[in-house]
Amino acid sequence: MSQNSSRTAGRHFLQIPGPTPVPDRILRAMDMPVIDHRGPEFGKLGRRVLDGIKTIFKCAGPVIIYPASGTGAWEAALANTMSPGDKVLMYETGHFASLWKAMAVKIGIDPEFIASDWRAGADPAKIEARLREDKTREIKAVCVVHNETSTGCVTLIGEVRRAIDAAGHPALLMVDTISSLGSIDYRHDEWGVDVTVGGSQKGLMLPPGLSFNALSDKALSIAKSAKLPKSYWGWDEMIANNKNGFFPYTPATNMLYALGEAIDMLHEEGLENVFARHDRHAEATRRAARAWGLEILCREPRHYSSSLTALLMPAGHDADAFRKTALEHFDVSLGTGLSKVAGKVFRIGHLGDTNDLTIVGALAGVEMGLALAGVPHRKGGVQAAMDYFAGAASPARAAAE
Ligand SMILES: *Cc1c(COP(=O)(O)O)cnc(C)c1O
Repeated sequence: MSQNSSRTAGRHFLQIPGPTPVPDRILRAMDMPVIDHRGPEFGKLGRRVLDGIKTIFKCAGPVIIYPASGTGAWEAALANTMSPGDKVLMYETGHFASLWKAMAVKIGIDPEFIASDWRAGADPAKIEARLREDKTREIKAVCVVHNETSTGCVTLIGEVRRAIDAAGHPALLMVDTISSLGSIDYRHDEWGVDVTVGGSQKGLMLPPGLSFNALSDKALSIAKSAKLPKSYWGWDEMIANNKNGFFPYTPATNMLYALGEAIDMLHEEGLENVFARHDRHAEATRRAARAWGLEILCREPRHYSSSLTALLMPAGHDADAFRKTALEHFDVSLGTGLSKVAGKVFRIGHLGDTNDLTIVGALAGVEMGLALAGVPHRKGGVQAAMDYFAGAASPARAAAE
């Protein structure tokens, strides 16, 4: 980029695994005057999004919408269901699971962590074994991250449900879907999840600022006797106000306009087509990585993420120096390595409002960045992705025809 230029032409390639690029349709939907959040027009908007978001979580029960980042919804999930000192079983899938655990400690509950090397999703057999040992039923909840955004590994939630049932254990199941909702198949009710945590700025294609708790009947009934202090996060006042589409405090009105549009867009494309599109973009990215000769961090193909791919740098090469080169020369933002894998890993986000050509462009930015930064690799990653796209039928298009 020239030193005396204050403008970069064309769209920035925001290829981090959230926030993701916000579609123009959503930007236009939120470009509205703020309305009275106690007035009749708001009630209609509130009902529209409160009902609509249930279809994305596949949850018949209430979905709470907070004006907060995903971290707030993590806290809400725990604060509404747990009492001081309660034991919860968490699984160290990566950085985000570790942050959720650190939060649990800070708010006065007692998490137990099943350790992992950050290269796969949670192992249901380990969860089952630990629950079977818990004869006195001290563990009140099992908390897992569906798509671990720091590693690109997915935990198969249906299998975790079966593990809890096989152990005959009454613990609640809580799942973080912040980087999978609207990108990777998710079924709150069918998988017997008690609290699902979601966020706005990843698969939902919205700006940051909203987060969600989708609830089961069991979560609602346990919440009645949970003793952790809570006020802002309390589900009861929210649910009471939400009945008519209102909120106990000023909601993020314009983000709710955006949310309504995002829900419509996901259904216009069809959720199954949205998931298939993400699968295809992930597959193309992995083919590019293999052609470059870069190792995929996720060791377990069943756990490959369709939201993002984390790649290991060749030994002796710094991921952040490479990311800086790619950004400066090609205006592409790639995800950094977080905590344990800082400097060793970079992440390519392929979630949200993305099409084949955006992915090809992003992969070209990576391939040219690798060359410019002097990172050893083979050429041909972009070609491998293009060959795959040209050969693979586009399910979205086929369905529309
Ligand atoms: C992004 C993310 C979070 C954190 O969400 P914030 O909106 O930054 O608070 C938590 N968990 C996962 C899996 C995420 O991807």
